[in-house]
Amino acid sequence: MLEKINLPYALNALEPFYSKQTLEIHYQTLYSAYVDNTNKTEEKLKQARKNNDFENIKCLEKELSYQGSGAILHELFFENLGPVTQSGPSTKLMHQISKDFGTFGMFKSQFTASSKAVEASGWNLLVWVPKWKKLQILQCEKHQNLTLWGCKLLLVLDMWEHSYFLQYKANRAEYVNAFWNIVNWNAVNGRFEEVV
Ligand code: MN
Repeated sequence: MLEKINLPYALNALEPFYSKQTLEIHYQTLYSAYVDNTNKTEEKLKQARKNNDFENIKCLEKELSYQGSGAILHELFFENLGPVTQSGPSTKLMHQISKDFGTFGMFKSQFTASSKAVEASGWNLLVWVPKWKKLQILQCEKHQNLTLWGCKLLLVLDMWEHSYFLQYKANRAEYVNAFWNIVNWNAVNGRFEEVV
């Protein structure tokens, strides 16, 4: 079960830039709901496994993605806010920002423009792309787009038709069954060791 994080500061600590009332509603009501709903969804998934009844699996996994990503993003958000200080990026981060964005000013301009251009309900994100060893700025619609932000991938299976149609035609089940025989678990274990 997911536990709610404690705010690392008082509800009025971000004033005047972020009001106590806003934070109160955001943290106590909205964020709480994401954690509660993630837990409820996990309970329903547990029940589905127990009953071997996966009729609602698509709906439940969508809900897990939405609620779980909502919980995670809010925690990162609350944790990357704080009372006004003289803090700034570390030497190491500043170096990376300069490398990937040109200057800190250009990074700030892009982040600001990107934040303002987010459509409807979404987020703006500075992310580290391990594969490219690079910082990027991304927008995100809702909380998820069917991922859990920050996740490290452990085992993946290509379900595009190009990955099975030639051999299995439209028989996806057969393709997936076959897949289990060819999983390199050493690779999966290795990835897990890296992130755990
Ligand atoms: Mn929010």
